[in-house]
Amino acid sequence: MKLGLLSGVSKEALESCFEMARFESPLVGSRLVIQEIPVTVHCTNCAAVRQIDFIQLFCCPVCGVPVSEIVSDKELEVVALEILE
Ligand SMILES: [Zn+2]
Repeated sequence: MKLGLLSGVSKEALESCFEMARFESPLVGSRLVIQEIPVTVHCTNCAAVRQIDFIQLFCCPVCGVPVSEIVSDKELEVVALEILE
């Protein structure tokens, strides 16, 4: 799964819920792989997409100008399902 940092879902909570859901179900033995997606923004000053390391500061990490256009952050999607027999 892809999990955006601003999706409102914590990785730990998702893993914990998956553990409970697969218990005594056909999914016993399955594994959930979570890829955390960083927040990226478009900086109009640099005219470039930048990755924000600290979500408390919505400023371009290169020029320091505040940014308001979020490019990615809220993903919560299943990107692959692999079944081994
Ligand atoms: Zn910038």
